[in-house]
Amino acid sequence: MKNILLIGTGGTIASQPTDSGLAPGLTTEQLLRYTPSITRLCRTDCVQLLALDSTNITPAHWQMIVRCIRERYGNYDGFVITHGTDTLAYTAAALSYMIQDCPKPIVLTGAQKPIGFDSTDSKINLTDAFSCAAGDLPGVSIVFDHKVILGTRAKKTRSKSFSAFSSINYPELGVIRDGSLVRFIRQRCADEPRFYEDLDTRVALLKLVPGMDRETLDFLYQRNDAVIIESFGVGGVPEAGGFYDCIRQWKERGRITVLTTQVENEGSDLGVYHVGHRLKNDLGVLEAYDMTCEAVLAKLMWILAITRDPAEVAERFYTPVAMDMFPQLPQKQA
Ligand code: ASP
Repeated sequence: MKNILLIGTGGTIASQPTDSGLAPGLTTEQLLRYTPSITRLCRTDCVQLLALDSTNITPAHWQMIVRCIRERYGNYDGFVITHGTDTLAYTAAALSYMIQDCPKPIVLTGAQKPIGFDSTDSKINLTDAFSCAAGDLPGVSIVFDHKVILGTRAKKTRSKSFSAFSSINYPELGVIRDGSLVRFIRQRCADEPRFYEDLDTRVALLKLVPGMDRETLDFLYQRNDAVIIESFGVGGVPEAGGFYDCIRQWKERGRITVLTTQVENEGSDLGVYHVGHRLKNDLGVLEAYDMTCEAVLAKLMWILAITRDPAEVAERFYTPVAMDMFPQLPQKQA
């Protein structure tokens, strides 16, 4: 039997009603008591790392999760992390960069309804997560509503129904049918994982709205090493409002800019329109292509903790990690 470690961080799955709404209250041991069939799948140990609504999760917590896995890596065949759904896709993306090429399963799951409720998705999600963690599913993934989604490709796309997550611009890795993993894609891995604990958290994300000017962008550049601009369609910024000058001025002071899109599917293509073309060719802006925003944010935090050299940042950014983007042709930098 495989040895699987359950790491609890809180979320709805472990929540109970309080006078002021649902809040995490159940321990990992209590979660397992609701799902006795798991003891037939594998041997389990528990770590109660956090007890947070995932709205409160920060990059420091991602580092705690990575440290927890790293310290116990040799003792287990796989890991299940229970986590709130609200920022689960961010954590999955972050872990994908912080634990690379991992041959063992690192499975994140959670639920839309607490495990103690009569109608709940908690028990099935937790049981499915354990059967995946005890199976042949290398690397970081999310198991939710019978789907297995690559850690770099997940997005919360429904706020209430059980089918909370979608795989963006990439197929699902598999499904769980009658409790068994049916795997369509096997992630590449190595014999040993590479752990990275450092992050540069000075990365901001700005969602463009019609009529915005450069003031907000200036503010973000002042306080951050990189700014992701979530623009419209295949990508571009308004010609009015001083955006181009702003990006150029902050580039000269070493800031990194990444353009992505507010459109959920199919990604950016900055070269198509005049409003995007200059950014890439004259201003050295990087583009996210088919990556999720969650992955772009986590990837920049990971890269900027390693290097601040713009050419190396660009090279690392465009090098796929855990299938976070389809490989692009070499980029011309300004
Ligand atoms: N607010 C909760 C959380 O993210 C929602 C959930 O877990 O579904 O912790």
